[in-house]
Amino acid sequence: MKIKKESLQTPRGTRDLMGQELSVWRRVSDIAEEAAKYYGFQEIRTPHFEHAELFGASLGETSDVVEKQMYSFKTRGGDHLVLRPEATVPLVRAYYEHGMQAEPQPILLYMNGSFFRHEAPQKGRWRQFGQFDVEVMGEELAVAEATTIRLFSLIFKELGIDTTLEISTMGDKDCRPQWRKELVSYYKKHVEKLCKDCKRRFKENPLRLLDCKEPACQEYKTKAPQMLEYVCDECKAHFKEVLEFMDALEIPYRLNGTLVRGFDYYTRTVFEFQANIVTKKEDGTEETKTMTVAGGGRYDYLGQVLAGKDLPAAGGGIGMDRVVSILMERMDEKAQEEFTKIEKPKVFLIQLGMAAKRKTLALMEEFRKARIPLAQSLSKDSIRGQLRLASKLGVPYSLIMGQKEALEGSIIIRDMDSGMQETLPITRAIERLKLKIK
Ligand SMILES: [Zn+2]
Ligand SMILES: [Zn+2]
Repeated sequence: MKIKKESLQTPRGTRDLMGQELSVWRRVSDIAEEAAKYYGFQEIRTPHFEHAELFGASLGETSDVVEKQMYSFKTRGGDHLVLRPEATVPLVRAYYEHGMQAEPQPILLYMNGSFFRHEAPQKGRWRQFGQFDVEVMGEELAVAEATTIRLFSLIFKELGIDTTLEISTMGDKDCRPQWRKELVSYYKKHVEKLCKDCKRRFKENPLRLLDCKEPACQEYKTKAPQMLEYVCDECKAHFKEVLEFMDALEIPYRLNGTLVRGFDYYTRTVFEFQANIVTKKEDGTEETKTMTVAGGGRYDYLGQVLAGKDLPAAGGGIGMDRVVSILMERMDEKAQEEFTKIEKPKVFLIQLGMAAKRKTLALMEEFRKARIPLAQSLSKDSIRGQLRLASKLGVPYSLIMGQKEALEGSIIIRDMDSGMQETLPITRAIERLKLKIK
């Protein structure tokens, strides 16, 4: 039996991550995770699939994701499961499952992983996509949003991606209904001219009308009533606090009254980071395009929906695929190499003959334990060939092991600048190198 040709390719909207792109991805992950840990976030990894019921109520039965984008399946045992379409709901599920409400609050978690949505594939959008997600749970004060935004802004700065923060409030159960009413009466006059999706949104969830990206609907969107005009005193005070944090942290922002995030669980603060990407056009002039690279907000009612308990919380996610694609497009090969180089090797290991090869294999572990980054050539080059490679890598020291040294249990340290060499027993050589390169 032969496999169909199409089956030898990844399914539509997915790809193999490999080569330089994967190196960049790994480096972005490291930078994001390191920053999150520094700010006190703990890592968590939830399963790639969850009970379908978890998402229906929490994201909104009429949300695009629940209505048409979830990968859902029945197991042989009859369970109805879905591939996780986002991170916040699983993390709140985990919060309750592990009794985190009994621990000192807030709980700071981060998750770096893959998520799944059956969307029309397009540039920067994949059906399996990577997201770096953080959540601050059990914190009602604006510091929760501020911590998330601050962390994201630091990560983008470190990656050298110029971003603009857009921010708004969606109000709460006291003030949002009034805005919704105004929105409905406004859109009622235009509903015939809206796109097909918006006609549906008008009936099912009018706030989502502001989510529309169709050019035909933009005109109505910009003139629509904005939440900021209807926000109640408590929501206003909270939003003011968020903005004061932004000022204190010197994070510039733009108020965007039509900013709504796609899920029902958002309350009050919502935000997005837009990357400003400058590209050269064919005629040499520059053009700036924007691309959403992160988003998030507050979701004070999600705890009620999932567990019947109040859980004030905020968080957000960085779209890894887009961030990596921006970096890949911006960097040439050399810059990519520089960016992905975590630690330059300090020592090059030269081995001559089989006896030496066997010996150096064991030696590698000694170096790993001593945390000395080591490079070596696995082909059977001559000593000259290997030395040439060592100087190309720019290592300060080489270690040479030939037949004689292998038998004696010794090794030669060569200073690559001066060419000076000394022969030492292996254990002493490692001690000596540790001192030299620290
Ligand atoms: Zn529309
Ligand atoms: Zn309110």
